[in-house]
Amino acid sequence: MAERIALFGGSFDPVHIGHLFVAEEVRIRLGYDRVIFVPAAQPPHKNGPPVGSSSDRLAMLELAVAQENFSIGRWELDRGGVSYTVDTLRRVISDGLADGRPGLIIGDDLVANFSLWREPEAVLRLADVIVVRRENAPLPDLLRDAHTVDNSPLPVSSSQIRERVQTGSAFRYLVPELVYRYIVDHRLYLGS
Ligand code: ATP
Repeated sequence: MAERIALFGGSFDPVHIGHLFVAEEVRIRLGYDRVIFVPAAQPPHKNGPPVGSSSDRLAMLELAVAQENFSIGRWELDRGGVSYTVDTLRRVISDGLADGRPGLIIGDDLVANFSLWREPEAVLRLADVIVVRRENAPLPDLLRDAHTVDNSPLPVSSSQIRERVQTGSAFRYLVPELVYRYIVDHRLYLGS
């Protein structure tokens, strides 16, 4: 059955409470039936590939995404290679998963480079782009019609967590408990 869905793409390397909290805020404030977390195989705009393997990042998402109106879209991992949002949107729409236009959640740390995404105009045509606050970055002209959400961002990032793991600093409560356990048990993020 088609639902009002919002997609939330990322590396999720690892997924953390900042991701989960903002997804829940958007779902409730904008009245979506479901937020679908979409892990990228290879994000185009990061410096280098993810540190965690696709299977570890997916396993941690599966442990984190435990509520009934959150789910995981594996399209980008299944496609492999560099992950382009426009391809994922076309797939979601052609599969008839969305009731109306899907939402697309992006943090404002990504807006400055939005024009460099593959087919940014098509992304804007296919989805309702929802910009959530993270750094208070100004919106470029291309995104003038995007929805903005006046959320309270949690000051957490995956890179900060990876660094904390590596340096033996506290990170336990920045991720769901099962994700913490997974990172410890699989000795993730310890290498330099
Ligand atoms: P890294 O530190 O490795 O760059 P990240 O914490 O930004 O990772 P991603 O998986 O790259 O995590 O982010 C996926 C999406 O989630 C992006 O749109 C990003 O802006 C958003 N996001 C990440 N952390 C937060 C947060 N604390 N609050 C709001 N949005 C966030």
